[in-house]
Amino acid sequence: MKITPLASGSSGNSFVIQTDASTVLVDAGLTGKRMVDRMGAAGVDPCGLSGIIVSHAHTDHTKGVGVLSRKFKIPVWMNRGTWDAARATVGKVHRLEFFETGRIFQVAGLRVHPFSVPHDCADPVGFRISYGTCRLGIATDLGTATGLVVKILAGLQVVVLESNHDPAMLRDGPYPWELKQRVRGRLGHLSNPESAGLLQRIVSDELTAVVLAHMSETNNRADLALECARASLGEFVRNRGTVCCALQNEVGPTIEW
Ligand SMILES: [Zn+2]
Ligand SMILES: [Zn+2]
Repeated sequence: MKITPLASGSSGNSFVIQTDASTVLVDAGLTGKRMVDRMGAAGVDPCGLSGIIVSHAHTDHTKGVGVLSRKFKIPVWMNRGTWDAARATVGKVHRLEFFETGRIFQVAGLRVHPFSVPHDCADPVGFRISYGTCRLGIATDLGTATGLVVKILAGLQVVVLESNHDPAMLRDGPYPWELKQRVRGRLGHLSNPESAGLLQRIVSDELTAVVLAHMSETNNRADLALECARASLGEFVRNRGTVCCALQNEVGPTIEW
């Protein structure tokens, strides 16, 4: 199993998951053209995609979903709350499949468990995805590390987790007060220390790699996010566990296991 970030941050998110049986996107939050460019850079042929799985309706996760689905005849999976909130911007899709939050479904041989996350959108989810004995978790937009999130992300080999902002950079930065409140709120985004605290609770002997994601370009820096996560994952790091960042304007790194 292999995961490659195509983009991650407030301006667009997408991850490509590849197995020997299929290639699937989780979110497609750049324009169709940019999505195709990033896939090209990652060596992924959009004609070979088996599906797009959508976490929630915010445009930084859905901007390219409709275009890609129509152009390359890709089926799309999302829950009804997301569809109701996103259908006006997503438009027609090649084939729409609904999943139910909390209920496992299959996409091209992948076993996908969508789980509820606290975020200011209709029925937002994270995903636990498994293929054979490989297990992956993706949670990129959540204001709080709930017990459910901890339970679901524990015992996985690879975890993609939001590390959105440095609290001081957000406090002292240029965002208007209301937006600062929204970002740091219970339904907003995890800060570096909150993300690091969650990682500490889910680290296990199984865990091999952590990808920090959805970093704010305005209110965070990769070195700060990495330092914070690595400090809380001391033993994991000493045992050569990987901690890396997914960035807004770069493809990769690819994690394979
Ligand atoms: Zn969001
Ligand atoms: Zn987002």
